Amino acid sequence: MSEGKKKIVIVGGGIAGLSAGIYGKLAGYDVEIFEKNPVAGGQCMGWNRKGCHIDNCIHWLTGTKKGTALRNVWETVGALEKDSEFVDSDSFCTSITGDCRVTLWKDLERTEKELLSLSPEDETEIRKFAEHVRYAAKCEIPAEKPMDAMGVMDYIHMGASMADMPKVMREYGSIDLQEMAGRFRHPALRALFTDYLPKEYTASSFLVSYGSIVSGNGEIPKGGSLAMVNRMVKRFQELGGKLHCNTPVSRIVIRNKKAVGIETADQKEVTADYVISSVDTMEMFSKLIGKEYMDSKWQSCYADSEKYPLFSAVQAAFVVDTEAYDEKGTIFFDCPSFETGGKKIDRISVKSYEYETDFAPAGKTVLQVNVPQFDREYFYWKGLTKAEYKRQKEAAVSAIEERLLLQFPKLRGHMEFLDCWTPLTYERYCNAYHGAYMGFIIRKGVKSFRVKGVVKGIKNLYIASQWIMAPGGLPVAVTAGKFAVWRISRKEKSGRAGE
Ligand SMILES: Cc1cc2nc3c(=O)[nH]c(=O)nc-3n(C[C@H](O)[C@H](O)[C@H](O)COP(=O)(O)OP(=O)(O)OC[C@H]3O[C@@H](n4cnc5c(N)ncnc54)[C@H](O)[C@@H]3O)c2cc1C
Repeated sequence: MSEGKKKIVIVGGGIAGLSAGIYGKLAGYDVEIFEKNPVAGGQCMGWNRKGCHIDNCIHWLTGTKKGTALRNVWETVGALEKDSEFVDSDSFCTSITGDCRVTLWKDLERTEKELLSLSPEDETEIRKFAEHVRYAAKCEIPAEKPMDAMGVMDYIHMGASMADMPKVMREYGSIDLQEMAGRFRHPALRALFTDYLPKEYTASSFLVSYGSIVSGNGEIPKGGSLAMVNRMVKRFQELGGKLHCNTPVSRIVIRNKKAVGIETADQKEVTADYVISSVDTMEMFSKLIGKEYMDSKWQSCYADSEKYPLFSAVQAAFVVDTEAYDEKGTIFFDCPSFETGGKKIDRISVKSYEYETDFAPAGKTVLQVNVPQFDREYFYWKGLTKAEYKRQKEAAVSAIEERLLLQFPKLRGHMEFLDCWTPLTYERYCNAYHGAYMGFIIRKGVKSFRVKGVVKGIKNLYIASQWIMAPGGLPVAVTAGKFAVWRISRKEKSGRAGE
């Protein structure tokens, strides 16, 4: 090895792996990515069914605001362009509770007015919420270099964007969404604040998410998730990177406490100067390097699903006649209870993709329903026989379909089932631990999870994955890729490359 250009091998071609690949090429390395699936993208995925496209990731992409460090990262990896177009939508989500309907609009003043007119007795909490969303809207995710490498000047540079975050954290950092919702008297507002994110999340996470929508820093790029991944693949390949799809990796080769390459499932060894693991971190520890390398921080989080719960979903997609569905955006509503994954469900959400006319034939729209599931439900699905799993999936689809028809009666006779997927689908497709599609949830009173993305005891191995910083998501994944290469380059410059 090591004659001419140095080589980085990346395991996993999701957003983090592609980002690492692109930054690796830009830093002058030979780079090869090994991805188990026929296409790259991992959790950031879309697929076709019955002439329709099911877009299964981007509900909002943090970092779309021009001039921010994160927008620069998205542009560098080709996910966004200077003149990228975004979906023309005016809302974050709508909650229906009984006869009440309330929306979190992109326009915060409109939201504030709507909430106040619905529930004047909640004025103090509504105004406080709006004020703190304004603070959170200025928050930017650090994307220049890893936080552990930031010095005083970096913090000063970041200062303006983070100046108001302590106020948000003081008011909403030590309560969860359930408690925040409990501060409101009106039942529709209580529902609104526990709808979008799991109620176990700290309230501040929700304010930051909604803040990014309000500030124009959380848009949906036109074309959706798969189109964005394809732009990143194109960028990587144009830079000369090699992407090997359909190539699962069975282990990372470690010699003398140093990662020296990988072995593919068909037992081919590929040598490298550096290995970046971009797969789910439990997959890395349990299969690619061995659990003996999992330090106590990882162990304690994985072992404690109370403090560090993980979530996934049962989802179903339908194509409907546009004339029979005049709603837009994501809508949460109460429904007669049903069980799925062993969990009682009495509220579900439906998202309409009417804004992407290419996702369905003319006159039709794709709708997607999301039913949250946690670790316990994962085990429920996992414990079923193949036949029972199929039966329960079908039962979930019927239950969801019935509830959609109850809520939107005009859909009767205008709706066709496309596909259904569960936590086990994420496990099968992405090797996702417990089917989770985000990292550890940030809970109140629990230290938020963050690690450097290195593995104690193995040199030249780096982790680029959404799992290295709670709660994961696309911004964490894309910056994790950048930061892994940043660490490699810094090591090279410091002359410790051959360690
Ligand atoms: C329904 C849904 C909605 C979401 N909405 C949002 C949103 O609105 N905003 C947001 O920020 N995030 C959202 N996310 C989360 C986002 O998709 C993830 O945070 C992100 O895609 C994770 O990227 P990653 O590269 O870290 O991991 P992954 O996408 O899991 O990539 C890992 C890759 O490694 C591959 N792999 C695994 N094992 C092996 C192996 N042994 N050999 C070779 N390859 C292997 C996998 O196939 C996969 O391609 C959503 C996810 C889902 C599913």
